[in-house]
Amino acid sequence: MTATLLDGKALAARVRAQARETLAELGVRAGLAVVLVGDDPASRVYVRNKVRACEETGICSELHAFPADAGENEVLERVLALNRDARIHGILVQLPLPAGIDSERVLAAVSPHKDVDGFHVENLGALVAGRAKFVPCTPAGVLRLLQHGNVRIAGRHAVVIGRSTIVGKPAALLLLQRDATVTICHSKTPDLAAHARQADILVAAVGRAKLVTADMVKPGACVIDVGMNRLPDGSLAGDVDFASVKEVAGWITPVPGGVGPMTVAMLMENTVAAARESG
Ligand code: NAP
Repeated sequence: MTATLLDGKALAARVRAQARETLAELGVRAGLAVVLVGDDPASRVYVRNKVRACEETGICSELHAFPADAGENEVLERVLALNRDARIHGILVQLPLPAGIDSERVLAAVSPHKDVDGFHVENLGALVAGRAKFVPCTPAGVLRLLQHGNVRIAGRHAVVIGRSTIVGKPAALLLLQRDATVTICHSKTPDLAAHARQADILVAAVGRAKLVTADMVKPGACVIDVGMNRLPDGSLAGDVDFASVKEVAGWITPVPGGVGPMTVAMLMENTVAAARESG
């Protein structure tokens, strides 16, 4: 069996085009501020991709870059100033922040109305309550890929590997809200493979290259690979062993070209929603 590919790159282009159309219809100017502290090479690549996506979507982006030794107060003050800036509808703080800066304090300083990453506790709480305004972009992208691929969620067993606040937990909540029966696995889960094999929908959000192998996948299951792992040769690999799993799964996302581009597209959608709300 060869799985159907869930093409995140193509779907992301459609989501961006739709966001662009919505902006044109609304006749508003949307602004996204990206706060970047330090010179982590991966963060620089992510920020560049987001700025480029803004250009393609017609969103005005501003990069607020700080050196690695910037003080927490300096960053907090900038976030507070951006909260007050009427030209800015979305504020994104690129994680991870350097050691010495308390990420939770900085994220808590972002106005929940401009929190287009959905990381503020108020927005995370709203997600738990089923009244989310801004859903974290990566899990939102996972859900959109499933919906676009016509993968049935209600009544199915979804297994999410990983319980981070920005990916695993919100992905599990979104699947639960759509009536899946959800199991969350993590580093202390004994016999991960046995849980994974139960999954009709398997979401891998771990950060371990090729952790999910073909023997861990139920034939015909939908496998969503959130992982982005840089291999020693510089290439990018997901958490799923794509070559073997695609022979067993019913649907699969590639890395690159799966969840990654969807994350950026959902950020564009959230920013347009924030601009619409403010207008
Ligand atoms: P994270 O905060 O490090 O969380 C990783 C999770 O995986 C934790 O819950 C951890 O369990 C669990 N885990 C670690 N080893 C495990 C094992 N051997 N078996 C089962 N579970 C294990 O990472 P994250 O921020 O959620 O990101 C996960 C991956 O997604 C990374 O590769 C990251 O680069 C990628 N990512 C991709 C995108 C995208 O746009 N495609 C966006 C965000 C993240 P404990 O909780 O017990 O420690």
